[in-house]
Amino acid sequence: MPVSARGASRLRSGHSWVYRSDVLSPDGIGPGELVAIADRHGKFLGTGLYSSSSQIALRLFSTELIEDFAQVLRERVSEAIRYREKIVKDTDAYRVVFSEADLLPGIIVDRYNDMLALQVLTQAMDAEPVRQTLVQELLSRLQPASIVERTEARVRELEQLAPREAALIFGEKSSTQFSMNGVRFHYSALAGQKTGAFLDQRENYRAAREYAHGEALDVFCYQGGFALHLAQTCSHVTGIDSSRPALEVADQNATLNGQEIEWLEGNAFDVLKDYATAGRHYDTIVLDPPAFAKSKKNLDTALRGYKELNLRALKMLRPGGILVTCSCSYHVSQADFLQMIADAGNDARRHIRVLEVRSQAKDHPIVPAIPETSYLKAVFVHVND
Ligand code: SAH
Repeated sequence: MPVSARGASRLRSGHSWVYRSDVLSPDGIGPGELVAIADRHGKFLGTGLYSSSSQIALRLFSTELIEDFAQVLRERVSEAIRYREKIVKDTDAYRVVFSEADLLPGIIVDRYNDMLALQVLTQAMDAEPVRQTLVQELLSRLQPASIVERTEARVRELEQLAPREAALIFGEKSSTQFSMNGVRFHYSALAGQKTGAFLDQRENYRAAREYAHGEALDVFCYQGGFALHLAQTCSHVTGIDSSRPALEVADQNATLNGQEIEWLEGNAFDVLKDYATAGRHYDTIVLDPPAFAKSKKNLDTALRGYKELNLRALKMLRPGGILVTCSCSYHVSQADFLQMIADAGNDARRHIRVLEVRSQAKDHPIVPAIPETSYLKAVFVHVND
């Protein structure tokens, strides 16, 4: 399949995507097929996975010609597992496979103790023989009690894949417990957001626990990832989220760890406004909102949203206070995010210093040639006077 000069140069730079506008003639290629990619002059560039509907028409699978796809899939899963064995510590919950970053575009696998959660995001990887190969390899390498498939209706629709509900695809166990940094969590395979928890924040939870002190607020707390860690070093912790089911699990998690945390259901923007008006003060505040910028188009609106939250938080922090502020929007760059924090600090008239600029946990690897693999920002700020 020939691609334009722009498509070819993107692949040669180490990126793995070719957009539809860079595919010169897709004729005769079916959904999810493995194709040989070439430049305009017919020079071979690699083997790609074709999608007939996504804007990302091709995802590079290998720079070589692949004859035994199943064999390469097995090797890549093994390599992803070996990588985690080297870099993951103090947890039995981590991302085992992170799509392009593990050379398995369209596949996400998370481990929660003795259970695995699988997400299939592309036509090529959704083919039955491919799914079978992946599941077999995961079973033989990790021996989970069960595997659940998590689905996102919107993603399947965009890839023109038949709708599929989240379901157990191996075993019968549908809930378990896992631990991160010595903190325990409930996991329920068929509930929750993403594949269940926000594993990408795991190393940031640990860092937050080190800086946290006094009275703490965990804003957008979900099932309590930060709050449960903060409760180990803070005198009082309040977690705020708009989702009641998330807070119910958060409360069960607190009980599991023998902790008392106050959970508050509400819109974070309103709650922070009310708290600020009521003159409340805190020593530690975590802000971990959902992605405000889903595309480049709403970057400005997103930055205004981040700024409003950060400004209120900075105003409420006592001298010596700690702000842990996060963005999981890929479209908000680290530079944009730091500028937003600088502006919020100025408007709040606080002298702020950055303690750490952190990112996603190492089991969500960043591939420098594929900027999209780097999406999470977690900035730790110290507030003076
Ligand atoms: N900090 C969490 C992850 C947060 S995900 C962790 O580490 O596990 C974002 C959370 O924001 C979700 O739980 C979602 O329910 C919540 N949320 C989304 N919009 C909200 C709003 N306006 N006010 C409060 N919570 C909101």
